[in-house]
Amino acid sequence: MNRGVLLLVDGLRPDLAESMLAAGELPALRAMLASGSSARAITAFPSTTSVAYLPFLTGCTPGQCNVPSIRWLDRSRYQGRWWKDREAVRSYCGYQAPRLDQDIAPQVRSIFELVPESLGIFTPVAKGLTEERDPSRGERKFWGAVAHYALWHQPSDDAVTRHLLRGIDHGWRFIFAQFPAVDGYSHQTTPDSDKVRRSLRLVDQTVGRVRERLRARGELDDTLILVVSDHGASVVHTHLDLPDWFRAQGVRTMSHPIIWERDPLAAVMVAGNGSAMVYARPNESRADRWPLSRLRDPKTFETSFDIVARLAAEPAVAFVAGEVEGGLRVVGADGEADLTREEDGQIGYRRLTGDPLALGFDRVADEREWLEVSWDAPFPDAPFHLFDQFRASRTGDLLVVANEGYDFRKRYEVPEHKSGHGSMFRAHMQTPAWSSHPGLVTPLRTVDLFPAMLEWLDPVFVGGHWVPQLIEYAGGIDVLGLPGESSEVRSWEEVAAARPEVVVVMPCGYDAERALAEAEDHAGELAAVKAARIVAVDAAGFFSRPGPRLIDGLELLAHILHPDRVPEAPGEALELTPDPAG
Ligand SMILES: [Zn+2]
Repeated sequence: MNRGVLLLVDGLRPDLAESMLAAGELPALRAMLASGSSARAITAFPSTTSVAYLPFLTGCTPGQCNVPSIRWLDRSRYQGRWWKDREAVRSYCGYQAPRLDQDIAPQVRSIFELVPESLGIFTPVAKGLTEERDPSRGERKFWGAVAHYALWHQPSDDAVTRHLLRGIDHGWRFIFAQFPAVDGYSHQTTPDSDKVRRSLRLVDQTVGRVRERLRARGELDDTLILVVSDHGASVVHTHLDLPDWFRAQGVRTMSHPIIWERDPLAAVMVAGNGSAMVYARPNESRADRWPLSRLRDPKTFETSFDIVARLAAEPAVAFVAGEVEGGLRVVGADGEADLTREEDGQIGYRRLTGDPLALGFDRVADEREWLEVSWDAPFPDAPFHLFDQFRASRTGDLLVVANEGYDFRKRYEVPEHKSGHGSMFRAHMQTPAWSSHPGLVTPLRTVDLFPAMLEWLDPVFVGGHWVPQLIEYAGGIDVLGLPGESSEVRSWEEVAAARPEVVVVMPCGYDAERALAEAEDHAGELAAVKAARIVAVDAAGFFSRPGPRLIDGLELLAHILHPDRVPEAPGEALELTPDPAG
């Protein structure tokens, strides 16, 4: 049985990791990589803890999860009553941290839900984890407080190591563990300080011990170990408190932790602290964002000038972005450019009066191509991440992205952040991605690692949505799925316990032949289910999408279940013939 261990070193810069590896300071990781692979990946935006964990743990970007940042305001629900509407204003940095799981869009499934035999250690995203499978929940809070007040982060990592080694002995299939010390010391010092290096050497020792245990259990070869990070870090020389900046322009502003400003004209939500979202007139409850033109209108913020232009001219600001007809407008100190979403899904970048994303070219390309052509740009993969940010309904009207050397929080950040992250420039967006197995290649997005992990862990899905209904219409009973519910993950034992007479194999997006090949790969497990017949069908053609083809799917199922009454099949139904030897 395949297992997976995902180790996340929070806030680790790839260049530091690579130089320590080359210098022989990380011997266990070097041993792991000898038969594995290493790459650099682009993380999610904003490049900050918890939001940037979502791609690893859900396979979805923050925009797809509708969790656009660590602080946000729900424009459609907030009505200006700071106490009554407090649930419509979010900051995961305080008592609301546990709300993250419920805030994730309901259709998004976490790896903990897809692989029920999971364990999470020090994870801020725990969707699908029971208390038993999240055993360090209390300790995480306790050591987090110690780290905050005593500036002592190593005990957190030591606790993670303890839980990790214990977890491996308890036969979990998937373990996610987060090491917070590198990020903690980074904020306190610099991203490559002695304290940071020491913490990374200790993570390396933990990797060595994990591999040792797995080897002793005979499980090392069947275990995929990924060592990743959620964001980089860089030195901050100047803090521009963005809410205070708005107040200095004469704009009444609400922001965390003081959210009870009367009749605010702006809500400023800082993340990470290298970026922020601005909501115009937060008391005016509305579903849609206001376009950039309206934000530039002096009436909106009751000023006598274009506040967007003034903000973009600040040395602390790399660029700001807002919505225009057909896409987004990016405004920098030296000019503006448009990002468009083309009909075929491609993204276009067109310089108007300047080149705020510092790309040096105009281009129309698909999302994958953008990753490649902007990999080494000052704001790598920015077109993709900007559109992702504005996909979320909770995203503010205006996005503000910090320049290297600056961040947006001063007054309430105690202790002071000497280094930070959260922005869209290279030092924050590039992360290391190391694997115990071959296959990782640069460039990569952190969100790409999820399907690779799932493929390795290979959970069983049973049909959801309309499939159980179709089976019923075709004269069968779906012994596992329930009509109307989304697809469920079950263990092979549960599938066998349901005693199906016929198993219809329909891996999402596969045609009948590939489905049959997939069934053959699982011949052992399928044989244990003891069904009389195992039939592979074309899921992509007949079952994956709602529409008229579902009628053909119904006929196909009726043919499989009652070949005597429905002799004609509208598509392929490939039977898995049992292996005579086995
Ligand atoms: Zn941090």
